[in-house]
Amino acid sequence: GTKPVSPTNPARHIPWPARPCAGPGETCQVSDFLQPKSFLKTCRGASSDPGEGDRRVVFLFQRIYYLSLEFYMGRTLQNTMINLGLQNACDEAIYQLGLDMEELEEIEEDAGLGNGGLGRLAACFLDSMATLGLAAYGYGIRYEYGIFNQKIRDGWQVEEADDWLRHGNPWEKARPEYMLPVHFYGRVEHTAAGAKWVDTQVVLALPYDTPVPGYMNNTVNTMRLWSARAPNDFNLRDFNVGDYIQAVLDRNLAENISRVLYPNDNVSRDGGVDVLGVFQAACSAWMGIAVAIQLNDTHPAMAIPELMRIFVDIEKLPWNKAWDITKRTFAYTNHTVLPEALERWPVDLVEKLLPRHLQIIYEINQRHLDHIASLFPNDVDRLRRMSLIEEGGTKRINMAHLCIVGSHAVNGVAKIHSEIVKTQVFKDFAALEPEKFQNKTNGITPRRWLLLCNPGLAELIAEKIGEDYVRDLSQLTKLHEFVDDDLFIREVAKVKQENKAKFALYLEKEYKVKINPSSMFDVHVKRIHEYKRQLMNCLHIVTMYNRIRRDPAKLFVPRTVIIGGKAAPGYHMAKMIIKLINTVAQVVNNDPVVGSKLKVIFLENYRVSLAEKVIPATDLSEQISTAGTEASGTGNMKFMLNGALTIGTMDGANVEMAEEAGEENLFIFGMRVEDVTELDREGYNAQEYYDRLPELKQAIDQIKSGFFSPNEPDLFKDVVNMLFHHDRFKVFADYEAYVKCQEKVSELYLNSKAWTKMVIRNIAAAGKFSSDRTIKEYARDIWHVEPSDLKIPPPNE
Ligand SMILES: *Cc1c(COP(=O)(O)O)cnc(C)c1O
Repeated sequence: GTKPVSPTNPARHIPWPARPCAGPGETCQVSDFLQPKSFLKTCRGASSDPGEGDRRVVFLFQRIYYLSLEFYMGRTLQNTMINLGLQNACDEAIYQLGLDMEELEEIEEDAGLGNGGLGRLAACFLDSMATLGLAAYGYGIRYEYGIFNQKIRDGWQVEEADDWLRHGNPWEKARPEYMLPVHFYGRVEHTAAGAKWVDTQVVLALPYDTPVPGYMNNTVNTMRLWSARAPNDFNLRDFNVGDYIQAVLDRNLAENISRVLYPNDNVSRDGGVDVLGVFQAACSAWMGIAVAIQLNDTHPAMAIPELMRIFVDIEKLPWNKAWDITKRTFAYTNHTVLPEALERWPVDLVEKLLPRHLQIIYEINQRHLDHIASLFPNDVDRLRRMSLIEEGGTKRINMAHLCIVGSHAVNGVAKIHSEIVKTQVFKDFAALEPEKFQNKTNGITPRRWLLLCNPGLAELIAEKIGEDYVRDLSQLTKLHEFVDDDLFIREVAKVKQENKAKFALYLEKEYKVKINPSSMFDVHVKRIHEYKRQLMNCLHIVTMYNRIRRDPAKLFVPRTVIIGGKAAPGYHMAKMIIKLINTVAQVVNNDPVVGSKLKVIFLENYRVSLAEKVIPATDLSEQISTAGTEASGTGNMKFMLNGALTIGTMDGANVEMAEEAGEENLFIFGMRVEDVTELDREGYNAQEYYDRLPELKQAIDQIKSGFFSPNEPDLFKDVVNMLFHHDRFKVFADYEAYVKCQEKVSELYLNSKAWTKMVIRNIAAAGKFSSDRTIKEYARDIWHVEPSDLKIPPPNE
């Protein structure tokens, strides 16, 4: 084979394969891409205390594993050049060859191994963990097909397979030497020597490593993604002996495990597909020398019983010792409180697929319930509420309960969300162990979400406050000094205008749509979901349209409303919302009375590389979820950092953005969580708002009567019916406040200077939302490790 070369510094590279750790006191070569300096630094202070009964599993080194079913990485080329400090040199070299770097970068496929915020968070965390010099690994699944490509045909979403590996993947390296067997099915024998899981079917897990370079610190971490392979004797060993061809064809059954990313965002995958989480968990628990395993939601929750199985059945640790280590190792991040997104796996399924794990879960549950019963005697209802197993109807495992019980820390992803987790959704658990519950407000990496996507703004900032802010984003507060600096204000406005012009050109080239670059770019991009309320935005569009038509001579601040996002293929209402937006757009965009005042664009196939284009070009960021439903949001932070103003509800991290920038520097409107709770208590009646608000009535009547879809007048009857009779997200209740708030937005936009000053105040306040800050908090409060934060210059300087 070819000799592998380190992406940073071949001279300092550790030869492959790294020698496995042998025992306490041994010098150990850790990861394949990890540089020795950062490794030694993070290993200092590591504990090596092989407790009673510990044999092979010894906690030697501070290795952190971030377990996630999604890593939404996007493209890698430009990010690699930036983090290695090679971008200018590469640009120059490519130019000398008569090529254009940007054109080259456009050729790379997105690694779309994620749905939205949760997967992108994992990707931002990898960047920050490497930048902070933590010996941290991302562990996940190497899907052969990532998130589908979205096509819009006649206004409808059509899904296309994302064959992202078609031309190969230059960033990964298969590591067959680390292949592992993963067991499924079979049965459990209880012997004098303990439980034995026998007659299993084996699937092989083949890891692929991708380097994760830190920003200018001579450190490279590893993302290890696992691919399912059928063993050569699959379906041949015990049966089907006669049918060789069929046995080869059946290899697909095993390999389907890592075939395709499940395209549901904020929805629990249905039973039967969770083989995936099991597969990853099994691959991951064999890491052996973790000090911390962070679970990105409950998707990889089976890692908990799997680690217990390894300790108890294989390493023969006593249960209590095994449980103590397991709890100290795992930590769980909750990402949503929407009931449809909380995972509940059917017991029947787990019993067939993983009989030993189910027994272990039962044992965990028994001890957990015994403990509660001892604290709260005769409180049967509490036992029922807190059980890991839900009875009544299909018996199910409550995966969040398993994660809470099996972890030493549970965190939400923004202050308001963590509060809801602690005081509402899991309040019984918080009553039991209040100190377990934490908050870790999400963040984004400023390397990709500023340096990479908005070099104009990044440079302008560096001119004013130096370049250190890239590693310490809190330094952005220094920009407050320049809020009244007329030259700086003009320069910030100019960069935005340039970004808008560039994006307009892109739309014209790729989609043949012409937009007015001096109009306000009002952008709502994220997964399409009822709770994110793209419908409310749509009602605002219709309202603006009606106002223009009612009085065409009246001053109207021109807007280009851009909405983008994918709907889960099985989510009917989300797909209808896309169709509605496109249908309204068709009418609005072709009405001569409207002209260039209002344009509506549905941005096809929203993904990481498209986010990098549209966010720097945005004036107004739409973050309008029903209060209490968006756990954090990270799109909101990207926009803030890139000089957009936010119109939003007091939900998720919007609350903290308002806290940082001052509420007067955001366009906050609508119900707060308390108001929503109160309205629920009274009973939400959509009809009331419809009867009271003539513009809402007009918009709804138009949608209902086929004004926008004359050939199919009934097209949106499901949507309208939902809005009146079962709108869990109360669109009508916030409509009036939203429209009024949008009027204020338009008014401010007329005053370019005042607008830009508010933009500067927002950028100056965005420092908190660096994922470096988030990761430092995880390191300090959950993982108990010291980031080394190396500042070694790259070798070529
Ligand atoms: C950041 C990001 C998201 C998350 O956006 P939210 O507005 O927080 O839901 C989703 N998709 C992509 C491509 C992103 O980059």
